[in-house]
Amino acid sequence: MAKVEWCYWAVFYLDENKRNCLTDCKKEVIMTRTNKYWKLYKATLEPHLSGTILGVKCPFCGKELEFYDPNSDWGGRRMYKLPIIKVKDKSTNQIHIVGSDSHDQLYINENGTISYYNLQNGEGTGGDYEFVGVDNEYEEGLIEMEDITKDNPIIKELSNKLEELEKLYYKVLFENIELKKNKANNL
Ligand SMILES: [Zn+2]
Repeated sequence: MAKVEWCYWAVFYLDENKRNCLTDCKKEVIMTRTNKYWKLYKATLEPHLSGTILGVKCPFCGKELEFYDPNSDWGGRRMYKLPIIKVKDKSTNQIHIVGSDSHDQLYINENGTISYYNLQNGEGTGGDYEFVGVDNEYEEGLIEMEDITKDNPIIKELSNKLEELEKLYYKVLFENIELKKNKANNL
């Protein structure tokens, strides 16, 4: 796929129904709830898989359009975040991501909270394990959230691995076909 070219629109709040936008392509527009620019803005909010684009184009330069607030970290690029849940085995102090071991299991308690259970050793949170969170400047004990974009190193690594696997799959497939051909020729 060709590299996507973006036109970013910086959005400045004027009032409840009005925003001022400065575009990368050096235009300035007023966006109101009833005009076409607001429609474009709404169109960029459609959920979509990361790595794909919505096809919402800047009417001035034709590049893919994205709005952002220069005064916050909102926008710029829409992305999905997925929780990375970690548990620590208190007896060994080893930490691992839930799901990286085939014996990992999460379940919902009667009160609606989530617990971890290890099918191999029969231990879980409340026993030998505890969840491991991270702190930010406002809150403590948060579950880490990973940006699921193709720029994420974890996603990159996974996708490289998948590519390798795909290549291997086709290699084996073609070798098999050649083998069958040769066999047929030798008959
Ligand atoms: Zn533009």
